[in-house]
Amino acid sequence: MVDMVDLIEDIQNILLAWFRDHGRHNIPWKLKRDGSIPKSGESLSPYEIWIAEVMLQQTQLKVVIPYWKKWMKKFPSLSDLAVADEQNVLLIWQGLGYYSRAKRIHESSKLLIDFVGNKCSQDPISWPNELDQWMLLPGIGRSTAGSIISSAFDLPTPILDGNVKRVLSRLIANEKTSGKDEKRLWGLSSLLLLTVSPRDINQALMDFGSQVCTPKKPRCSSCPLQNFCIAYIKYDPVNFPKKDMKQSNPVEKIGLGLVFNKSGELLIDQRLESSSMGGMWEFPGGKKNSNESIEDTIEREIKEELGICVKAVEKLLCFDHSYSHKKLSFTVYICQLISGVPKPLTSQKLLWVSPEKLCDFPFPAANTKIISALNKHLGI
Ligand code: SF4
Repeated sequence: MVDMVDLIEDIQNILLAWFRDHGRHNIPWKLKRDGSIPKSGESLSPYEIWIAEVMLQQTQLKVVIPYWKKWMKKFPSLSDLAVADEQNVLLIWQGLGYYSRAKRIHESSKLLIDFVGNKCSQDPISWPNELDQWMLLPGIGRSTAGSIISSAFDLPTPILDGNVKRVLSRLIANEKTSGKDEKRLWGLSSLLLLTVSPRDINQALMDFGSQVCTPKKPRCSSCPLQNFCIAYIKYDPVNFPKKDMKQSNPVEKIGLGLVFNKSGELLIDQRLESSSMGGMWEFPGGKKNSNESIEDTIEREIKEELGICVKAVEKLLCFDHSYSHKKLSFTVYICQLISGVPKPLTSQKLLWVSPEKLCDFPFPAANTKIISALNKHLGI
């Protein structure tokens, strides 16, 4: 670590030179309104950067960009977001996953509007620019706060997202990823910011991690930092940072039913606010027990969830969907309503909607596959 401090300036210069030639200079929220690159010390829109940084949590840049553009069209300012209906916020987020992020952004917009004020929400100077202030917002940790502040105000706040953690862990051959070892990484990340442009150094580190010092096949033979990299000189870089033993994700079988009424409308229910993906809409159904057929699962779950008797009559599709901690295997049936009036026994609301109107409701990503298959089936 002591040797590393002496080498900080060389590493900074190499990273900045690499960034100039190979960095991602077209990320929309890192540019000024006229599309030009901001000068050192110049501020950018904290609102646009904040939304982007939350979207980037657990999601890749190329996936985020179209969502961010759609968001900015719908909610161009903090004031627009603060008065928006939560269902519209979820609708824009639909497909991006980890929906609690959208709800937290919406909740935070009301806190921020109190801080910034309606009139000044377009002026970066009115926005918070300290770590503690940003970390008061739900879902904002130190690295996200650091990234927002350095990107928006070009201030020296360190970051330690997955890419940066990997690059720094390899440079100092830091084996572990937690506790005391993580402190060393934060220390190094801070030291690297002692430069003219913290915004550029942070972006350089992130881009370098995603393009050169990649998780499985780092491009060490052409890496400009190889003479400084202890993992490369002494060990196999791929082993850094050391990963925890990963448990394999269990696969759960899920049966879902598309229940139609005589008018051709379809039954959807809205998840409880307190549940994961709360506020999103879905098709009724649930987890298969080991001793039942998938048709029995669907009929039983719908009885428990809605208090009605249905018959699973036609299989529409089967597909798998992976989450960070588990994998779900879905089987979807078109169901016939036999008896009963549906009630929201385990959800907050039920609706009969025509299939053409399903796109007006926010559904989790797995359900959107069902809507596509249904539209094909119905010739919509
Ligand atoms: S030499 Fe390899 S491991 Fe080290 S920083 Fe470069 S790409 Fe990463």
